[in-house]
Amino acid sequence: MSYQPSPERYNSMPYKRSGKSGLKLPAVSLGLWQNFGGYDTMENSRNILKTAFDHGVTHIDLANNYGPPPGSAEENFGQILHTDFRDHRDELIISSKAGYTMWDGPYGDWGTKKYLVSSLDQSLKRMKLDYVDIFYHHRPDPETPLEETMAALDLIVRQGKALYVGISNYKAPEAKAAIQMLKQMGTPIIIHQPKYSMFERWVEGGLLDVLEEEGVGCIPFSPLAQGLLTDKYLKGIPADSRALKVGDSLTENSITPDKIEKVKKLNDIAQQRGQKLAHMALSWILKDDRITSVLVGASKPEQLLDSLKCPENTKFSKEELDLIDEILK
Ligand code: NDP
Repeated sequence: MSYQPSPERYNSMPYKRSGKSGLKLPAVSLGLWQNFGGYDTMENSRNILKTAFDHGVTHIDLANNYGPPPGSAEENFGQILHTDFRDHRDELIISSKAGYTMWDGPYGDWGTKKYLVSSLDQSLKRMKLDYVDIFYHHRPDPETPLEETMAALDLIVRQGKALYVGISNYKAPEAKAAIQMLKQMGTPIIIHQPKYSMFERWVEGGLLDVLEEEGVGCIPFSPLAQGLLTDKYLKGIPADSRALKVGDSLTENSITPDKIEKVKKLNDIAQQRGQKLAHMALSWILKDDRITSVLVGASKPEQLLDSLKCPENTKFSKEELDLIDEILK
């Protein structure tokens, strides 16, 4: 029998507008950077996606290069979308990006109009879609004029290939310039996707203020520091963990005794709050009103179910916050 999503799916997830745009995103969004590529099983990927949708996770985040190999996450997602979610396209916010190396030669990387337009065309083909809901420039390009990159985003929206646009990994001053440029073109940037977690707090040094001033939403990626901010690594490195998988985004060497000591202390606070560390790490991000959604990853449906509990308790006492700051110092 074909997949029947839960009729309860919109009962508990909070939705929030992205900045001053009309678009509402779920408090928890799902990213397909890892665990949905060519080396992963379709059955597991499908089950994670169904778990997400059954619990109101309406936003699925991709990029041209997600896999590995690059492109395979979009291909697999496209296949699952068309077999299982065919009747639910309009209930989903699907995003993609371009900005990192995708193909050989001078046109398959960074931020030219040539790269962004052709890369999105390729993404749409892989996912068998007419348009994505959000298209991001994935990282700033130090060489291409910002005007050209922003004009490419504007063009893509005018061509109907994306409904909204965003930027990712832009620092505060360059984000401000990009946001103001696109506002003038009539295609406002509605969202910024920066790396933000208890272990990586650079956005607190100006970016969040710029986004608030400009009315732009914020969706932090790797909010669990790729799994470090869970109880996963408390007793060593499990065989099925990202730290031991293909790729170098999280390496065994980066899981230092000092980090694990901090994780243990954070885990104690989480327990006192009646939360698992994964919930607390996400609740801690969502406590800030400027955050629209947290963008989590999951290698199993159960992990996502854990993350989904985070909107339940986003209140922290001053003592808890001070203690957390002290641990993270
Ligand atoms: P997270 O920090 O949420 O890490 C996800 C990983 O943490 C999982 O794969 C799993 O690791 C582990 N995990 C999650 N929940 C639990 C749990 N309850 N218990 C134990 N372990 C858990 O995010 P990601 O780093 O995956 O990034 C999320 C998304 O952000 C990406 O998919 C992508 O969409 C986006 N992103 C954007 C970038 C950009 O430049 N714009 C860059 C990177 C990501 P394991 O696999 O070991 O089980």
